[in-house]
Amino acid sequence: MHNPIHTAEIDWQADPLGEIPISRQFGDVYFSRANGLAETQHVFLQGNDLPQRLAQLGAYDYFVVGETGFGTGLNFLALWQLWRHVRPDNHSRLHMLTVEKYPLTREDLCRALAIWPELADMSAQLLAQYPPPLSGVHRLIFAEERLSLDIWLGDAAECLPNIRSECPVQAWFLDGFAPACNPELWQSQILDQIVRLSDVGTTFASFSVAGVVKQGLRAHGITVTRPKGFGRKREMLKAYWPQPNTLNNDDLKHSISTHTNTKPIQIAVIGAGIAGLSCAYALAQRGYPVKIFDQSTPLAGASGNPRALLMPKLTPLSHVSEHLHTLGWLSTLRWWSAWQQQHSVIEATGGLSLNTAKHQIEFNKLANYPTEIAQAYSATQSRQTSNTALTTDALWIEQAALLNPVELANIVLAHPLVSLHTAQVTQLQQSAAGWQLDTATGCLDATFQQVIVCTALASQQLCPSLPRLNPIRGQLSWCIAPAGSPAVPLSYGGYCAQFAQDGQPQLLFGASFIRQDDQTDLRIEDHQHNATLLADMLPDLAAALPDLATWQGRASIRAQMRDYLPLVGAVPEQDGVWVLAGLGSKGFAFAPLCAELLAAQMLGEVWPVSAALGHKLRASRGEHSKNQTIKH
Ligand code: SAM
Repeated sequence: MHNPIHTAEIDWQADPLGEIPISRQFGDVYFSRANGLAETQHVFLQGNDLPQRLAQLGAYDYFVVGETGFGTGLNFLALWQLWRHVRPDNHSRLHMLTVEKYPLTREDLCRALAIWPELADMSAQLLAQYPPPLSGVHRLIFAEERLSLDIWLGDAAECLPNIRSECPVQAWFLDGFAPACNPELWQSQILDQIVRLSDVGTTFASFSVAGVVKQGLRAHGITVTRPKGFGRKREMLKAYWPQPNTLNNDDLKHSISTHTNTKPIQIAVIGAGIAGLSCAYALAQRGYPVKIFDQSTPLAGASGNPRALLMPKLTPLSHVSEHLHTLGWLSTLRWWSAWQQQHSVIEATGGLSLNTAKHQIEFNKLANYPTEIAQAYSATQSRQTSNTALTTDALWIEQAALLNPVELANIVLAHPLVSLHTAQVTQLQQSAAGWQLDTATGCLDATFQQVIVCTALASQQLCPSLPRLNPIRGQLSWCIAPAGSPAVPLSYGGYCAQFAQDGQPQLLFGASFIRQDDQTDLRIEDHQHNATLLADMLPDLAAALPDLATWQGRASIRAQMRDYLPLVGAVPEQDGVWVLAGLGSKGFAFAPLCAELLAAQMLGEVWPVSAALGHKLRASRGEHSKNQTIKH
């Protein structure tokens, strides 16, 4: 449970340079009036020896920077600017994790960053992905830059213990306002967490040389020095975690700490649905070649509907930081937004979640969501927005969208490091060098060090130790859109949305949900079921549907665990085999975030979800493992 997020309250102070943001909550400036950018470069970048350390990264190295207090993102942008100048062209990557209790609103962030024209193109990219004020972690990926950023929204004391990383943070920016204005951020429990996430060779820099900071670090065996501060400031803090045999050495010639990943490895992904495509994309974006194997064409299974509706079923705000549907939905929107110029993977439509007898919306529990996520609409507003005769009130989800699976598959399969092969993989065979794939027509002549199984219900055939996934049949219907079709997608237990096919407006509506049925034949009764769901909301529209014989449809089988969460992670008893399966009917919302988690676990990176959520998704869970504790 997390408290809802309050955004930063800012006062603006005129300055010859531009406007300087001042926190009303803490009574302190976000960056120095003299020259915040130069101070950041001096204190945090030089203070952690980042120009040299980043320039020396080896092929496929992954370097992690941690920060307390994201604020205006100036430190992040300065780091990005440095990264552009020094990064070697060798698939090395830079990741930053940061925590922020009072995020700036998008408008305030835009205003604060306007003062740095030299950072303008990076600021624009940051703003394009800047998350809404919802507690939990939000991963922003700048793939072209080999750069990623996790913004944890919430109090550092709550967020830091939830961070799980497979590798140490190598450099820390201990920012946050001065200890005198903000003692909470410098308490020992925060430093304990910072040290938990660090290791020998980790460095720490801060503008503050307050006793509490120095003593706190020293108590953990960290060596503290106080070189000259920025401008007229006498001192700053520069510290490092020494090798055990150099404990009292004040010399900062520490060993350069980097995390060396496995160098290019052979990776096979089995299954070219949304799970397999997302895993392949996550790894290819990290510079790893991936071969996808599928018995049929991409999206032949449950991911192949003409459009998918991206609209979360919201949870009360206090649970949002662990809510895979909401966090995954936001990740999906960010993942594909980078392609909006060239492709139309995402059509930003907005959507109405209708309040019906069967699909009741607990408005009182959702009332404090930021309006950019959800707003309560009266029946009149719902009618006006949808341009229909709706009689129900609703939640307006401004960022709901339609996703085009074919466009998505085209992008993934066009990636130069992704290749698609037709083969029905029937078994995984372990050899000394890795895994070989048995197929219906014999064993493939290739060995893979890592295999990711994304074959929904069939995953258990390749990985017998996985828990059982249940089949759920779902049929979707679509036909030429009658006059009066809703202007925006509607969800009501079922859902409907307009989309264009060959230049013609179609109305898509669905979907049936039949447990323990694994047949994919098109059925009249499923069409009728979908029409009945629609008729409950919009009887006139349902009556205006064209003759059923003209409808198109698609039935597919979703695989689902009893807890409705996907299986993500290492497959027990098969070293080097991983799984992403059981996405149910939320594949497009779950897949990118789950693929990021899988890639992080596989390559030894920082997790993009909390330790608790990652644990809930583990592939080793089953009927008997419900009470297991989290292992860090
Ligand atoms: N690094 C920032 C930048 O580049 O703009 C400046 C950081 S500002 C000096 C300090 C930040 O720490 C503020 O944004 C403040 O809201 C945040 N902060 C203060 N106390 C916090 C806490 N307990 N948990 C998380 N963030 C906190």
